[in-house]
This record gives sequence, structure tokens and C-alpha cells, in this order.
Amino acid sequence: MKYECPHCHEKTITLKQKAFAGTLTSRGAECEKCKRRCVNGKDSTIFRLVTSLAVLIFITKLIFFSEIDMTFCIVASIIALVVAKILQIIFDAFFAKLIPSQWID
Ligand SMILES: [Zn+2]
Repeated sequence: MKYECPHCHEKTITLKQKAFAGTLTSRGAECEKCKRRCVNGKDSTIFRLVTSLAVLIFITKLIFFSEIDMTFCIVASIIALVVAKILQIIFDAFFAKLIPSQWID
């Protein structure tokens, strides 16, 4: 399964490349045909923002508004961060739209 390069419109970008291509400010994945780079677009940035915000709210609530043990809070916070990161990678891999990279080599 490959995705279309936003430059040459050939299906050259692999799922793995797309998952780790990053967003607007990243270097991005290189197309094997035209050698130009592409990244995940605005939808990926928005998804990251929303999930990061959700984690931040979750951690804040956990630490300041619950009676739970601090060690458990830290473990739960780390798990929440990891889960958010995984969700972001999955979103990038399957749902985000590829756009040309703004990166200048
Ligand atoms: Zn290309």
C-alpha cells in the first residue's frame, strides 16, 4: 500500500514513510521517483494539537484534582503521552493528507 507523492503524483510514499514524515515544520519523507520531500498537512497538525491538549488536561486533572497516589499519577501520565503519540503516528499513516515539504536542504 503506497501513497501519492504531492509533487509527481506517483504512488511512491510507503505507509511507514508517511507515518514518520512529520508535519509542516518537519523535513518529511523523500519520494523515490522525483526526490522531492513531502510532509503530513494541516489535518495532522490539528490532530496533534487536539490529542496533546487532551493529554495535558488529563494530566492536570489527575495531578491537581484527584486523590490518587503521585507514583500512579506519573505512570498514568506517561501512558497517556505514549498513547497520544501512537494515535498521532496512526493518524499520520492512514488519515493525514500529504503535502509538499517546505524544508530547504
Ligand atoms: Zn514524487
